[in-house]
Amino acid sequence: MELVPAKTILSKPKDDSWFGNDYNMNLYRGCCHGCIYCDSRSECYHVDDFDRVRLKRGALAILERELASKRKKGVVGVGAMSDTYNPFEREVQATRGALALLGRFGFGVALDTKSPLVLRDIDLIQRIAHKASVNIKITITTADDALSKIIEPHVCPPSERFRAIRELSAAGIFTGVLMAPMLPYITDTEENVKKMVRLAHENGARFIFPMFGVTLRQNQRDYYYRKLDEHFPGLALKYRNVYRSNYYCASPRSRQLRALFQKECGKYHLLYRMQDIVAAYKKKEPSMEQMTFF
Ligand code: SF4
Repeated sequence: MELVPAKTILSKPKDDSWFGNDYNMNLYRGCCHGCIYCDSRSECYHVDDFDRVRLKRGALAILERELASKRKKGVVGVGAMSDTYNPFEREVQATRGALALLGRFGFGVALDTKSPLVLRDIDLIQRIAHKASVNIKITITTADDALSKIIEPHVCPPSERFRAIRELSAAGIFTGVLMAPMLPYITDTEENVKKMVRLAHENGARFIFPMFGVTLRQNQRDYYYRKLDEHFPGLALKYRNVYRSNYYCASPRSRQLRALFQKECGKYHLLYRMQDIVAAYKKKEPSMEQMTFF
């Protein structure tokens, strides 16, 4: 697989508001899952030829050095800029190696993926969970397999992703659904919201975190509109008229959908607020005073 130079693997997020991540980690550059709405292909991230997956050279050695040098342990977010369970990972096993390192150094993990390949690493995720916090988020934007094939062409169908949630939950791993983005005029229906919440519950998810809209910027917007022209004729024009150059494009039905979503989550006792999800999965890290004492 093609390698690209890298100086660092871990980065510090601006704050911990995204699922309480203390660090972020990207082992790969680019993603070949082809989601038409992908934010990571935006110009501001400077990932050339985004659909080509490359591995950062010496990724595990760099990560080991970085983990050993951190004074503060915490939760490492994985999968923000590219799905770490891309098809190459089956052979390359960089993610598997990284999870082993997180476990060895006592760090937690909050991982986003659309691939059931995460099931391969249940043993390592369980090992991490013995000492630290674990949160596995499976991204599912529609419960409709046929529609997913159009908007997320190179990933497995949502039905398979729900099965992955079932297996992770059965293994005692804190798991939930990232229902983001919700595409205006495409996936923003009451039927989809109800089915997503029901399936999350039936498959043992602890939470479902929503976004009732999509973000669009720079070349990501051009790519998205090209795909809309291919699969949903006339819709790109509607977006242009409604959203112009807005960064956040909220579903016109977001208020009703949110109310319905909250009602459905209440029915099944599913968490959906960020602070509740973080409080449920994050173990307390020992304070500096406690560490000094011990
Ligand atoms: S899986 Fe994530 S990173 Fe990959 S194309 Fe889809 S949205 Fe982008």
